[in-house]
Amino acid sequence: MDYVSTRGAGPVGLEEALLRGLAPDGGLFMPATLPQFATDTFADCDNIVDIGVRFLEPFTVGSGLEEALDDICSDAFSFPIVLRALPPAEAHLSVLELFHGPTAAFKDVGARFLAACMARLGDSEADARPLTILVATSGDTGGAVAAAFHGRPGFRVVVMYPEGQVSPRQAHQLACWGGNVLTLAVDGPFDACQRLVKQAFSHPEMARQHRLCSANSINIGRLLPQAVYYAAASLWHQRQHGRPASFIIPTGNLGNAQACVMARECGLPIEHIVLATNANRTIVDYLASGEYAARPSVQTLASAMDVGDPSNMERLRHLFPAIETLRGKVTAVSVSDEEIREQIRLDATRRGELWCPHTATAARVHDQFDAALAECAWVLVATAHPAKFHEIVEPLVGTPVPVPPALAELLERPTLEHRMPADLDALARQLAGA
Ligand SMILES: *Cc1c(COP(=O)(O)O)cnc(C)c1O
Repeated sequence: MDYVSTRGAGPVGLEEALLRGLAPDGGLFMPATLPQFATDTFADCDNIVDIGVRFLEPFTVGSGLEEALDDICSDAFSFPIVLRALPPAEAHLSVLELFHGPTAAFKDVGARFLAACMARLGDSEADARPLTILVATSGDTGGAVAAAFHGRPGFRVVVMYPEGQVSPRQAHQLACWGGNVLTLAVDGPFDACQRLVKQAFSHPEMARQHRLCSANSINIGRLLPQAVYYAAASLWHQRQHGRPASFIIPTGNLGNAQACVMARECGLPIEHIVLATNANRTIVDYLASGEYAARPSVQTLASAMDVGDPSNMERLRHLFPAIETLRGKVTAVSVSDEEIREQIRLDATRRGELWCPHTATAARVHDQFDAALAECAWVLVATAHPAKFHEIVEPLVGTPVPVPPALAELLERPTLEHRMPADLDALARQLAGA
């Protein structure tokens, strides 16, 4: 399989697309063609690892990763992905729980897959120095990447986050690793962290000396495994309920939703795809007006979705350049903080479900559907465990949120982080271990 940039560069092989992250022309890598699967392709596959291997075969064919695909999928899909029907059965409503990984959010899937691939790319440079995965995070990405690469020989992770601007448990998940993970609390906003990453990558000396590598959310290696869980969930749904699933996906940078769109374009049994956004309305307004206008992001309760210029928009527009076509493929609905609060409070009693603020946007969108849409079999995509955002959820529901074992284990570990001003010299000193 060849990979091409959304802006025209390429083609390159999968290894190069994974290692580069961003295409040389500034675009994002996409598979040159999308394979078409007949549903019976998966007739003998039920668990996520087997479905993953079958689904990803055409995407890895011809690359150095083709032979290792079984191992990569076993390594990456090492925790449960759960599709669970909610009562009553007549309502045809299910939840896809993507938060059973080490840091309790769906980003564990992409990060683990990317790490599993990179660990098997083979180091042609016969070099004793580790590759440095440099990542800026506004919350969930950094913990997932640290967890995925922690303890892997040949890698070092450097995570930068805006001090004081992530939730207490997120901060803990960023700084509890030690070993080959260095956590930097930056005196500045997320944008400053992201700028430092860009500066470091475009500084030839630093990039070479530390063998910098990126793992950010635009890497195609994070999108492919996300398409796998939509393939699996749609097959499970079809088998259990005899009808195709429609998904409501909490959306920020559009990576998760883009993966669902790709799975459907590959022929998996998926009906509607609805994007649930918070008060950041860029996508909603674009679909309504046809004019794309990036905005500064606004802070909301669903903070992992506080994005004013979704990076994967470029991939969606690459697949469907005409706005009319795009409108037929996805719809989007914006949910306010007040509605998020109300949904969390109501569903704790009405449905007996605890949602994280992101998942609550999807539940809200569902409950506002008109009668025609309500007839479809909907799946709410649960992107994080509510215990990860207990400081928001607990006051609304009035009870403690039980902490899942994997998260509890992380929260017991001691933390270590280094404070740092938002400038490149300070980052250079940290990278050099000074
Ligand atoms: C990152 C994240 C999102 C948004 O996902 P995108 O792929 O950026 O659209 C939603 N919910 C949670 C919990 C997240 O961490």
